[in-house]
Amino acid sequence: MSLPTSMNAMVLESPGKPLVYKEVPVPTPSANQVLIKVIACGICRTDLHVVDGELNHPKLPLVPGHEIIGKVVIQGNNVLNIKVNDIVGVPWLGYTCGICKFCKTGKENLCNNAGFTGYTIDGGYAEYTVADARFCFLLDDEHSKPGAAPLLCAGLIGFRSYKMINSAAKNIGLYGFGAAAHILIQIAVSQGKNVFSFTKDGDTTTQNFAKTLGSKWAGGSSDVPPVKLDAAIIFAPAGELIPMALKNLEKAGQVICGGIHMSEIPAFSYDLLWEERSVQSVANLTRKDGQDFFKVLENVPVHTETELFSLQQANEALERLRQGKIKSAAVLVMN
Ligand SMILES: [Zn+2]
Ligand SMILES: [Zn+2]
Repeated sequence: MSLPTSMNAMVLESPGKPLVYKEVPVPTPSANQVLIKVIACGICRTDLHVVDGELNHPKLPLVPGHEIIGKVVIQGNNVLNIKVNDIVGVPWLGYTCGICKFCKTGKENLCNNAGFTGYTIDGGYAEYTVADARFCFLLDDEHSKPGAAPLLCAGLIGFRSYKMINSAAKNIGLYGFGAAAHILIQIAVSQGKNVFSFTKDGDTTTQNFAKTLGSKWAGGSSDVPPVKLDAAIIFAPAGELIPMALKNLEKAGQVICGGIHMSEIPAFSYDLLWEERSVQSVANLTRKDGQDFFKVLENVPVHTETELFSLQQANEALERLRQGKIKSAAVLVMN
């Protein structure tokens, strides 16, 4: 198969400005990389933080996107785990050094020298991308469709957040019911958890959506759930949700913050934290998280709700996400 030398991509040239649709060279894989023909790339809220300049150190110019599903078309000389024609997923964690104290203690998500797809490494808002094969997930045919793209970040980060919760927790609150929550609820319900879903106040459409996916209860973030929660995961980037969630926690309850960026957290009384309640953030992912997650998916057939866009519509899709108009997950589908 002969490959083109140039491709279309949506490029971030300057944060705070719309992405530019342009023709750029098809990247060449290094010895540890594969060249991937992108099938689809999900749009994550983190992309919005990058495009809007809320995350400070993007590579520029940058091709965003870290929920990539694609087919391998070239493998680098050192690549052993993946071959041409394999379907792979490329997540946010694009590189780790393997030698820092975090890498050496099973915490590669905190690697001091990490590279992140669609942030410090070019990502998937393009027809082709290169990725370090050691950080790609080999996917089965079932996951070769655009609906699988949100699993690569929304799914994975939701799953890592869920793993942080004490396994005995029964009543779990999800604050912000979008891409991550709509995937995670399906796993949590299959494991016998009671899920309580919180949306923006008055958003009955999303509350009803949460109920169709097995939510025991759904309400606005100012509402009080019918039981005390053993844990709450916050996916929305709103700092005020932390004290609001703490108020609804059982003793020793946990608040887990799944997002990479949040608005300022308002001051709150120590009483809310007292009795061994805790607040913890979740940063990035490890490859083990991905392996565990796709293993769980073998037994839990997760269905993703997606809104599909063409590559050229990336700005429009980001704007819809910014305005809270994406019901679940937005995905760019390549031709
Ligand atoms: Zn490291
Ligand atoms: Zn993401």
